[in-house]
Amino acid sequence: MTSNERAPAPTTTGDGAPLAVFVSDVHLQESMPRTAGAFLSFLRHHAARARQVYLLGDLFEYWAGDDDLDTPFHRSIIAALRALADDGVAVYWVGGNRDFLVGQGFAQAAGLSLLEEPHVTTLADRRIVLLHGDAQCTDDGAYMAFRAQVRQPAWQQQFLSMPLEKRKAIIAELRSGSREAQRGKSYEIMDVNPEAIGKVFADTGAQLMIHGHTHRPAVHDHGDGRIRMVLPDWDADTDDARGGWIALAADGSLTRHGIADVLAG
Ligand code: MN
Repeated sequence: MTSNERAPAPTTTGDGAPLAVFVSDVHLQESMPRTAGAFLSFLRHHAARARQVYLLGDLFEYWAGDDDLDTPFHRSIIAALRALADDGVAVYWVGGNRDFLVGQGFAQAAGLSLLEEPHVTTLADRRIVLLHGDAQCTDDGAYMAFRAQVRQPAWQQQFLSMPLEKRKAIIAELRSGSREAQRGKSYEIMDVNPEAIGKVFADTGAQLMIHGHTHRPAVHDHGDGRIRMVLPDWDADTDDARGGWIALAADGSLTRHGIADVLAG
């Protein structure tokens, strides 16, 4: 569908195309080319048909700062996102625990809008709350302390004032250090805390929550008509490829899609 054929009404698509698609935890990195390829295929063939695209955190394995836009790998991702925007698709971004340093420089280059989390929106008469999910993993005290530190503007300003190569070296060290500290496990081994999730439902009045981060794709019934859908992480560079997204149709119905829909060959 070209932008000229797009219906003007904001909540109808008319041809069975999704109103919105939701994706997270693609963990894009140059060393995983099949995963990147699957994601680019998702953007071209599925996201491009939607009116809105929500990127719900950890799209990138790490992000050192918006002065790192100009690698061939980053340029290819940015160009694909930009193509959506140019075709009239609204693209929204929630930062994850790995790519929280994405800022306005990236947003402008990719043609997307940064959202504060939790983000509440109403689509197809559903009140929906969107978030990455790491802030609700409150059982992991060490991570919550780290998160509080690195989300401070002063900390970010100081970090971003360092040369790009130094930042990349620090991130590499942090990543290998955290791997060692957790004996090969990562922050994602923690699941969300039920009380923290209950608080998000209560604070926002949402009936539907969509998040990622935990790598535990599922649909949870929280009672009183409240549903929580968890997105999968992506890895198409192993034999047992995984990944996927959620689509919301104009009639309010929700569909989960697996990565098989976008794998080449
Ligand atoms: Mn995460």
